[in-house]
Amino acid sequence: MKKMPVLFTFDVDGETLWLNRDPENIDRPVTLSLGEYGPREGLPRILKLLEKYDVPATFFVPGKTAEDFPWVIPSINEKGHEIANHSYSHKWPDRYTEREEEYNDYKKGADIIEPMIGRKLKGYRSPAWEFSKFTLGILKEMGIEYSSNMMGTDRIEYLKAFDEETDIVELPCSWVLDDAAYWLYSVRIPGKAMQPLESVEKCWKDEFDVLYEEFMEEENAGIDSDITYVLTCHPQIIGRPGKARVLENLIKHIKTHPNVEFVTAPQAVAQFKAKQKK
Ligand SMILES: [Zn+2]
Repeated sequence: MKKMPVLFTFDVDGETLWLNRDPENIDRPVTLSLGEYGPREGLPRILKLLEKYDVPATFFVPGKTAEDFPWVIPSINEKGHEIANHSYSHKWPDRYTEREEEYNDYKKGADIIEPMIGRKLKGYRSPAWEFSKFTLGILKEMGIEYSSNMMGTDRIEYLKAFDEETDIVELPCSWVLDDAAYWLYSVRIPGKAMQPLESVEKCWKDEFDVLYEEFMEEENAGIDSDITYVLTCHPQIIGRPGKARVLENLIKHIKTHPNVEFVTAPQAVAQFKAKQKK
């Protein structure tokens, strides 16, 4: 029987996360150091964990993070993980008023990372998960093959936006399966509080359990299921010691199920496309 694709994805935003929340953060070294924690401590801890459990993953890295922390790209790449486009600056796309400015930001990100890994970036995740009216056209122009942004389904499908269909494969996301929703914290984000580790762990396991049940039901009924599980985390958040333990417990839980397969985004895309040809 086919296995349910499970994707662990990491946005290595570094300081760009904070710089785009509030441009004045450029003068706040403590706030920026929250971002620095990702490349310095979170990423190595996560890479070690993924290696321990033999989990391949997908990393979306802003070009600026790759520049500011030069070990980030080589350390991900040497472990065989996928690396994809997450812009240069991490500017939120819905803030762009000029197409060229948005295009140049994505192109700059690619121009920095591609020579470091010797291959083209095939995937795109939007900073802060939104598209401008230019985004889709830019992704097509850049030859992007997959996107991981939309929240309208639990299934892998072709990307659609603004009523336009594409042949870009969409790997669906959700705020429920995002560490930032529970743990992105700063005194600069009013009203935010960190959630208990156990409740997030339970939430991520419950999401998995139900999706797995539904996947198995469909497969047992002879339906070639497109249900998937896409987790989105940030090394500066999930890379804290206690939170990394939550990720470890989730990996162990998922691995107790026989019909699952941890895959990178290109592996999920290839499986989906092969199925369309049948
Ligand atoms: Zn990001």
